[in-house]
Amino acid sequence: MYDVLPDSEISRVLAVTAHPDDIDFGAAGTVARFTDAGIQVVYCVCTDGQAGGFDLDLPRSEIPRIRRAEQEEAAAQVGVRDVRFLGLVDGELEPSLELVSALTAVIREVRPDRMIIQSPERDWALLPRSHPDHLAAGEAAIRAVYPAARNPFAFPGLAAAGLEPWTVREVWLSAHPTSNHAVDVTDTFDRKIAALLAHKSQHPQPDQLAPRVRDWLTRGAREAGLPEGRLAESFFVVPTG
Ligand SMILES: [Zn+2]
Repeated sequence: MYDVLPDSEISRVLAVTAHPDDIDFGAAGTVARFTDAGIQVVYCVCTDGQAGGFDLDLPRSEIPRIRRAEQEEAAAQVGVRDVRFLGLVDGELEPSLELVSALTAVIREVRPDRMIIQSPERDWALLPRSHPDHLAAGEAAIRAVYPAARNPFAFPGLAAAGLEPWTVREVWLSAHPTSNHAVDVTDTFDRKIAALLAHKSQHPQPDQLAPRVRDWLTRGAREAGLPEGRLAESFFVVPTG
């Protein structure tokens, strides 16, 4: 297991995801623990999730507004009030210079000590975790962490606009093929489920959600060697130095 920085050294956490609801599947229980500990958490969602949902009668032009509102409600369930949307298109995300620059700007604004991002590496054992947008968001985010955010000469327009270089100390990857850190989320499980259920446009059978998520988190806890009956979210944590 990786020896993560103590939460007492963490003031701010920034989570970058491709779609509304990704953070809630991957890490909402952990986020609730952070906010309970007084850590400020900010979400940055790259796309508006335009390709998601199940209701064929819903006008697609309504989706961005609906999904942003759902993500804000989900964030509030776990103590997050600052949610930023880049407004890109679901299914078309690339780790472009534009996206790396936009994420570099957000990092320099938020100045997080720790980030939660999606793994840029594909998990061949569980393909739906590795949606191409997730890989792109993860790749762009790690390029923004290193070297762009800390390099005063990267994207010089940002420094000229007053966004000073910033070094993120630790990055937590979700949905990585392997994990080296598990967070016990047994006590925040109900809030994670409430956050997931806030994404009403995504759940044709909401009753099935809690048992399914409980199964995953039970497996995560077992793999991490936690006592029977505990639930855990798993991450691959990397230092950035
Ligand atoms: Zn997603």
